[in-house]
Amino acid sequence: MSPAVPAAAQPAPAGRPAPDPHPVPHPSDARTILDRCDELAAVSSTHHGITRVYLSPEHARVNALAAGWMTAAGMTTWQDAAGNQRGRYEAAEPGAPAILLGSHLDTVPDAGRYDGILGVLLAIAVVERLHRAGTRLPVAVEVAAFGDEEGTRFGTALLGSRALAGTWDDAWWQLVDEAGTTLRDAFTAFGLDPAAVGDAAPPRGSVVGYLEAHIEQGPYLLEADRALAVVSSIAGARRFELTMTGVAGHAGGVPFHRRHDALAGASEVVLAVERLARDADCVATVGRLEAFPGGVNVIPGLVEFSLDLRGEHDDRRDEVWAAVREAAAEVGERRGLAFAAHETHSAPAVVASPALRDVVRDGIAATGDTDPMVLFSKAGHDAMAVAELTDWAMLFVRCGNGGISHHPDEIVTLADVAVALDAFEASVRALAERSR
Ligand SMILES: [Zn+2]
Repeated sequence: MSPAVPAAAQPAPAGRPAPDPHPVPHPSDARTILDRCDELAAVSSTHHGITRVYLSPEHARVNALAAGWMTAAGMTTWQDAAGNQRGRYEAAEPGAPAILLGSHLDTVPDAGRYDGILGVLLAIAVVERLHRAGTRLPVAVEVAAFGDEEGTRFGTALLGSRALAGTWDDAWWQLVDEAGTTLRDAFTAFGLDPAAVGDAAPPRGSVVGYLEAHIEQGPYLLEADRALAVVSSIAGARRFELTMTGVAGHAGGVPFHRRHDALAGASEVVLAVERLARDADCVATVGRLEAFPGGVNVIPGLVEFSLDLRGEHDDRRDEVWAAVREAAAEVGERRGLAFAAHETHSAPAVVASPALRDVVRDGIAATGDTDPMVLFSKAGHDAMAVAELTDWAMLFVRCGNGGISHHPDEIVTLADVAVALDAFEASVRALAERSR
């Protein structure tokens, strides 16, 4: 618990109203957050599971729910020019710059109920506490509930947060969803004006920093028996289409010493990818692999496979890629195969701002964990986009169930949400003091 937030709900002396010089943590705050997660989970385009995509009727419904909670927390609210739900809790001096808090309300198909959503609700709950105590900070607190982070509908991620960051790309207007609807038409159908999308970005200098709370989406906190972590960076992925070319032949007729089996060679590369990435503390995945011509009685003459490679630092990640290429060349030489690679995606790691990292670390320390765990995020987050606008840092909250995410079994505990709220509030207060 934060030193700024002492004395949880002590009963007032009989006959006198309780003094309220500080925000008083409400014992049911975390319960309210989890109840709201359940309420949002009921807003889905599918009967089973949760699926909620950008610019859909479900998007409009969760925006309305979030707007109601923001209003109850003393915020003025608006839906911005990209369909993000926004709210502002005014500073002591009206019109002052703002701390921006946020995360996303859209989901992957058949999602869990906390990815993104928990961060939005923690942000609103922090403001609710300020409002309940009648506290005005030297800076305003704004909350952004992003409409698109996952990219489920249009295949391009972070559309909501990129609009807010002012990095919208007009090429995206031609993106189409599965039904053939363009992003431009979806904007119009949602009641938005494509020509005004630039208005989603706040004026430069009006935001002092961005803080995002998010479930970890991995098992590291669980394994370390910790509730919270500071995020050091968000790993940038490199993705490749790989091919191994050999010679197809008769599965009975060609003896081993005359074979150039593309699948046997590709399999060696897959195992090398795993070994090299693990040794360098990076993560790498071959998620798709197809052998041609694909007959049960034909030696594979060609294999196409994918590689997704991520690391805390780009140089480490790039060293792994160089080592993979070397290993594949060695396999090719030994087996008489040709290896080729085509890069399809490359994003740099986005490193959290040191000053804001300290703010989040201090916020966690205020809850009693004086030496917080530091993790790099292997998944992308809205903070990557907002990093183009302002300094940023993130707070990770432990996932249960082995850290599973993007899955209906995603869970968090009431106790972890309670401590996350205390830490997030302490972080916001600390950042407000620094921004005075
Ligand atoms: Zn997320």
